[in-house]
Amino acid sequence: MQKKNKIYEGKAKILYQTDDPNLLIQYFKDDATAFDATKRGTIKEKGVCNNQISTKLFEYLESRLIPTHFMKMLSQREMLVKNVEIIPVEVTIRNIVAGGMSKLLGLEEGIKLKQAVLEYHYKNDSLHDPLINDYHILALEIATERELKIIADLSFKINGLLLEFFSQRGIDLVDFKLEFGREKGSKQNIILADEISPDTCRLWEKNTGRKLDKDRFRRDLGQIEETYQEVAKLILS
Ligand code: 5GP
Repeated sequence: MQKKNKIYEGKAKILYQTDDPNLLIQYFKDDATAFDATKRGTIKEKGVCNNQISTKLFEYLESRLIPTHFMKMLSQREMLVKNVEIIPVEVTIRNIVAGGMSKLLGLEEGIKLKQAVLEYHYKNDSLHDPLINDYHILALEIATERELKIIADLSFKINGLLLEFFSQRGIDLVDFKLEFGREKGSKQNIILADEISPDTCRLWEKNTGRKLDKDRFRRDLGQIEETYQEVAKLILS
């Protein structure tokens, strides 16, 4: 597979074209940003850990019939993925109150929710990824009703699968963010894209509540590199 032009560079990843128009190479960087990129830093070897973690989680989800953009791991920092048109909506699923939900509703972090909460955020840093609902998405033609139903159904299914996966490894899945895309060449197909890693999930050690995710960077909690390595080890075991 030949790596060609860079077509996109985000905060944590770069996408390159390949000689196949339907496939891209997703490269994981060590760069870390928080609070709409107003806080910036580097987490040594984060790209390697997140590539390993995402690979394992995509393989697990694919084995449970969740369609994803994942094809295969190519190298320590590179993954071959299907080319998609990203739908500019971040889907957040929450099982325990933390972060944005705690701020929005003035709730203490750590409250277990009676059922999972699904939120949509419009993907736009300069607007601080504002919370939107189904009506905004349909009215602004960001996605169709059919697509939105697939996205919500897949997101809840993924939550069930990831809750079990992390629980077996002594971790509570507090919340996470997903992104979906329309598969190029087959516009009807909605598949999971982006990554699933400690950058995009809140992971708390069972019983102690120790944070095993990007909040260590966001909140200056220390032991950042070590924690990413620890999660990679736990997940690959
Ligand atoms: P919150 O809305 O509480 O800030 O985030 C909820 C969950 O989604 C957290 O696990 C967080 O890591 C993830 N998340 C939300 N927005 C983003 C984003 O723009 N980038 C990344 N990497 N994760 C996000």
